Amino acid sequence: MEFKAGKKIYEGKAKILYETADPDLLIQEFKDDATAFDATKRGVIHDKGIVNNRISAVLFRTLEDRGVATHFVRLLGDRTMLVRRLAIIPIEVTVRNVVAGGMARTFGLEEGKRLKQPVYEIHYKSDPLHDPLMNEEHAVAMGLAAPEELATLKERSLRVNRYLIEFFSPKGIDLIDFKLEYGRYKGRIFLGDEISPDTCRFWEVGTGRKLDKDRFRRDLGGIEEAYQEMLKRVES
Ligand code: UDP
Repeated sequence: MEFKAGKKIYEGKAKILYETADPDLLIQEFKDDATAFDATKRGVIHDKGIVNNRISAVLFRTLEDRGVATHFVRLLGDRTMLVRRLAIIPIEVTVRNVVAGGMARTFGLEEGKRLKQPVYEIHYKSDPLHDPLMNEEHAVAMGLAAPEELATLKERSLRVNRYLIEFFSPKGIDLIDFKLEYGRYKGRIFLGDEISPDTCRFWEVGTGRKLDKDRFRRDLGGIEEAYQEMLKRVES
């Protein structure tokens, strides 16, 4: 079946979703637009959409091969993939292996400190509120997810962390932290969104060189090169 983009149903900071002739499937398009600090900082990272589409495709396939249900169906074009139409749960999950970003700020810790065990966090997905950190009691009490669903999110995210570490370490990449989003589809929970240098921190083993969106957030330069380097390693 040929999939053509129909009505645009959502346009976010980095991606657009279009309907298809099949009500269960959407086209997810990756843009070059970059934002940080709740979209107060904006820019363009040349070809980021192409890189993130391809990296996400490889990582979703890798996870599927290991039994993790994801929304990914297949690549369509340079910047587009066919995905299942999830009802997104408004929770951003993060998993951390090394202190960086928000965790350094929240707890006054130095970036780069390896954690004694992975840290699983949930955040309320709300730009105006700056995605506040919350716990499972908040999520249940606010009606965002059922306790069994939250247990699934945690178990699955920690498994994703192990699989991604196994994938990246032979490629000389240290997986510092990442963000995941999940949704409901036909009564089950699927991993959605993207897994890319926009949503993960990747540090080169040995040098500590940042190969992710922190180059944009912190004006470190060499942004396009960093994204291309990640694509090369992911596809190698
Ligand atoms: N992250 C993301 N979207 C967000 C917030 C964070 O993709 O809205 C990713 C970020 O790239 C990093 C991880 O989640 O890999 C942890 O981010 P953190 O909580 O440290 O927040 P930040 O420092 O980016 O504000």
